[in-house]
Amino acid sequence: MAALDKSMMIGVIGAGAMGAGIAQVAAQSGHLVKLYDNRADAAKETIASIEKQLKRLVERKKFTLEQVQQTVANLQVANELADFEHAGLVIEAIVENRDVKQAVFAELESICSAQCILATNTSSISITRLAAGMKHPERMVGMHFFNPAPIMKLVEVVSGLVTSKEIATTVFDTAAAWGKVPVYAASTPGFIVNRVARPFYAESLRLKQEQVADCATLDALMREAGGFRMGAFELTDLIGQDVNYAVTCSVFDAYYGDFRFQPSLIQKDLVDAGYLGRKSGEGFYSYK
Ligand code: NAD
Repeated sequence: MAALDKSMMIGVIGAGAMGAGIAQVAAQSGHLVKLYDNRADAAKETIASIEKQLKRLVERKKFTLEQVQQTVANLQVANELADFEHAGLVIEAIVENRDVKQAVFAELESICSAQCILATNTSSISITRLAAGMKHPERMVGMHFFNPAPIMKLVEVVSGLVTSKEIATTVFDTAAAWGKVPVYAASTPGFIVNRVARPFYAESLRLKQEQVADCATLDALMREAGGFRMGAFELTDLIGQDVNYAVTCSVFDAYYGDFRFQPSLIQKDLVDAGYLGRKSGEGFYSYK
């Protein structure tokens, strides 16, 4: 199998942190990308923001103006899911909720051709479960990018029980053609990275809850003594407290309440307060 041909249109659903980054990566790689979000104007605003960020990179000589113009020309707003009728691959990056994702995939199956690959950027939800009930469950695959998607190299290509090997290979080769470093993973809760990372978040949150030290001290220690690029508090503020909490709940449930993955009450408090991190202006830190 080979990577998807550049002539194939890519659909991206969700114009939040991940959808924006994924759309940019695919557009930079030469595909026409249509971006859909059910929030009014979200896709349009996201494309404008990608253009603004890329123009800053021209000033820093990381991109040429032509590359930016080409990338932006490849990005289009999709007004409805029906705009994905001719897509070769649709990547879903919406809220981490199985029911909401399944409703979107059910609609996509009635719109897209039988050859279209349906991928999800879910961090933790079972690909097997998401595919269950679909007319063609073998074309459902995880294509899990990391945040920020234009910078982070890793992509987990996640196969559920019935995902076709050919489709997983095509997605793997496509991620590689887009400059990423793909790895195959089986669909277990949290896949590889989000499972390994759970105890990192959980133990950091327990230290904070027990008032062992403040967030800045704990983050600095993880960076300077632990060798991590970011500590748990600054990282979850970047990810989104709502997203990180939803992933923990999903992994905890999937492992039948294993204590190692127990969600944190102080993180739930932040989510309840709307303190979602960078995207809302407040999280463990203030960004105002
Ligand atoms: P986000 O909250 O930044 O964005 C989600 C977007 O989806 C929003 O713009 C929202 O309006 C839109 N949306 C919600 N329901 C929709 C629907 N039914 N139809 C169309 N659009 C809809 O979230 P995010 O951080 O981009 O996360 C998206 C997905 O990617 C989640 O599954 C998450 O687990 C996964 N993920 C997140 C990260 C991260 O660091 N944030 C990393 C890897 C994977």
